[in-house]
Amino acid sequence: MKKDRNFIPYTKHEISYADRQKVTEALKDEWITGGNTVSRFENALADFTHAKHAVAVSSGTAALHTALVTAGVQPGDEVIVPALTFVATANAAVFCGAKPVLADIREEDLCIDPYAAQKLINSRTKAIIPVHFAGHPAPMKEISTMADKHKLTVIEDAAHAIGASFNGSPIGNISPFTIFSFHPAKQMTTGEGGAITTNMKALAQAMRRFRNHGMTKEAGQRNKKNGDYRYDVTSLGYNYRITDFQCALGMSQLSRLKQMLAQRRKLANRYLKAFSSLPEITPLEISPEIEHAWHLMTIKLNIKRLKISRDAFLNKLRDAGIGANVHYIPIHYHSYYRNRFGYKPGMFPVTENVFKKILTLPLYSSMTFKEQDYVLDTIEWLLAKNRKQRVI
Ligand SMILES: *Cc1c(COP(=O)(O)O)cnc(C)c1O
Repeated sequence: MKKDRNFIPYTKHEISYADRQKVTEALKDEWITGGNTVSRFENALADFTHAKHAVAVSSGTAALHTALVTAGVQPGDEVIVPALTFVATANAAVFCGAKPVLADIREEDLCIDPYAAQKLINSRTKAIIPVHFAGHPAPMKEISTMADKHKLTVIEDAAHAIGASFNGSPIGNISPFTIFSFHPAKQMTTGEGGAITTNMKALAQAMRRFRNHGMTKEAGQRNKKNGDYRYDVTSLGYNYRITDFQCALGMSQLSRLKQMLAQRRKLANRYLKAFSSLPEITPLEISPEIEHAWHLMTIKLNIKRLKISRDAFLNKLRDAGIGANVHYIPIHYHSYYRNRFGYKPGMFPVTENVFKKILTLPLYSSMTFKEQDYVLDTIEWLLAKNRKQRVI
């Protein structure tokens, strides 16, 4: 179908010839899982984030679960998460038997509101998971200070934020745990995959055991000629391993990441320039202390100036072949969270108000200016057709 061929998605992975070659080479290795390429990828990630250690796992969600268990989160504990995030952030707390305690967000950048989070802390609160929304770092100074004071573990959900920085330092080296995702929707991919960075060796070791059934030795240490077959299982673990050929893709992508991020930045700036003359569109605010990683181009539609809702606007973009999207449906709107934890609409006013207005526009490193101009022209045309004549 012609229309599908011209569809501009909200995100798209970029796989190069070199990426494919690296994967093919890795498939010729003796070890295609649990081999050297995994640790080489981990070292490259630690270098990139300026963290001492990185542990690669099978997904960003596995990374969250691994971090929470290693932080000691247990049944009966509470974990503070923003009400507006991908559901995996909250699900990971539930995996541990803990309660995800939702906190409202900041209207300006859609990150967790540290003052709202502060009010939720009690003797059961064990951890807090700030999300670097869209690639904009959450207010880490406030969050770290609060966490120190109340002895909470900070687990940064940096699934959107590889390559972002705060005061010139890359995301991934200040908290005990920072998690990343390499799903194809993100800025770099391993197909499925994720990682946790940490500065503490003991935590890295515990996380490596957790991703490998709780075993004290990995296959490479046991199954070789001089290897000792014996191992112990010291705690419960999962199979959260990532393969060597995925890590080969990851290393190849990571070597181009700065370049791919620069392309995203260029496109983002072009969008922002166009929005500056459109009063119906408010981009998210960008703190002067940060460098954005531009995972998502999420904007707020000033629906008071429009004759149509956000959903109607989104549908018109889809009709025009533009894959606009919404990030995210608030956690407390999902039936599982309503039924199991008693959350309901009305509890998080900022999240709910902003949810009516947010829209994610296409942004990916291989997007052409021509594609972007088509998106911008379509938006301007839709705004002209649907703006109210007089703003009341
Ligand atoms: C993508 C994402 C995850 C989960 O990552 P997967 O690799 O898809 O499991 C977690 N948190 C946020 C905020 C995400 O966007």
